[in-house]
Amino acid sequence: MTERTASASLDHAHRSISDEHWDVIIIGGGAAGLSAALILARARRRVLVLDSQEPRNRFAPHMHGVLSRDGYSPLDLVADGYREVRAVDGVIVDARSTTTRAIPEGFEVETEAGVHATARRLIVATGARDELPDIPGLAEQWGRGVVACPYCDGYEATGRAIGVLVTSVPGLHKAHMLRAYSDDLTVFTALAGAIPDEERLVLEARGMRIETRTVTRVISDAGRLTALGLEDGTTTPVDVVFAEPALVALDEPLRQLGADRIDSPFGPWTAADALGRTSIDGVWAVGNSASPAALVPLAMGSGATAALAINGELVALDVAAAAERVAASAVAS
Ligand SMILES: Cc1cc2nc3c(=O)[nH]c(=O)nc-3n(C[C@H](O)[C@H](O)[C@H](O)COP(=O)(O)OP(=O)(O)OC[C@H]3O[C@@H](n4cnc5c(N)ncnc54)[C@H](O)[C@@H]3O)c2cc1C
Repeated sequence: MTERTASASLDHAHRSISDEHWDVIIIGGGAAGLSAALILARARRRVLVLDSQEPRNRFAPHMHGVLSRDGYSPLDLVADGYREVRAVDGVIVDARSTTTRAIPEGFEVETEAGVHATARRLIVATGARDELPDIPGLAEQWGRGVVACPYCDGYEATGRAIGVLVTSVPGLHKAHMLRAYSDDLTVFTALAGAIPDEERLVLEARGMRIETRTVTRVISDAGRLTALGLEDGTTTPVDVVFAEPALVALDEPLRQLGADRIDSPFGPWTAADALGRTSIDGVWAVGNSASPAALVPLAMGSGATAALAINGELVALDVAAAAERVAASAVAS
């Protein structure tokens, strides 16, 4: 395809996206958004997914704790999801939303490319991003030698030299979780500040070493994490580091619509009920957009839950409209 025909067919695709008033627009096509899209498209709803294609776990070659996909690549999971949604007539577009607003017929979303799309319902599945401590060499190991979640990567660390890089005193809980996997566990505490004596004594009583010197670099050899470098030039050998990144919600669409937030251990987060309903009528949040702690299976489950509830609502509207027509024709005759 030449550049000109490619851009002409893109224009055509954009026009047809704008021409249709969708049943549901889903912003974000990771585990949560695609799961919602699959259910809705299979329910014969017209579904448009706008996805900027940067799932939070894209740095990890393998994911764990996902039934029947343990050890599978996160990017392959998304690629499978794209195929499955498209196979049942869901439409997925590589696009980032820029503006989301309520309109009388529902919602309007504008993308970076200037395309407008409208829908009766909106699902926000944009997820979150991890803000890593600024230590040279750490970002390069993110998702491989440096990870965050014991449920995702703890088992693989069994019997290995584990470093736990805490940035807060509550973060010491992660060290206690990881104690189940190894006898060789060092807790690096400089980023968390002073550790209360009672916390320190309990860590030591459970056989963990505490390192108070500042970590100044993450050392790798041929791409494999080998040690953490300390402020005095010494190094501590480690096979894997569990860090405590700050989680930042990618919640712009929800902020633009004015959805309520609650205080979560990760900071303010969009308030959503058990079905994913936000405080804005017709707007739903799923996956990490609704819950910072949603791992892949939970993200999928929340997307599916919201999809079922939305389809139920839309069916009820169709039934109510038909009932009104029946009543009106009875009056007329
Ligand atoms: C390094 C790492 C390893 C992990 N390993 C595991 C594991 O082994 N097992 C596990 O269960 N969980 C793991 N997780 C957690 C996992 O990443 C999340 O549970 C999962 O990504 C949440 O899915 P989601 O659909 O809510 O968000 P995401 O997967 O992040 O998907 C959100 C999508 O929305 C898109 N998006 C964002 N903003 C916009 C916008 N404005 N317009 C359009 N699109 C947008 C993004 O590009 C992305 O494609 C890991 C996380 C990290 C960081």
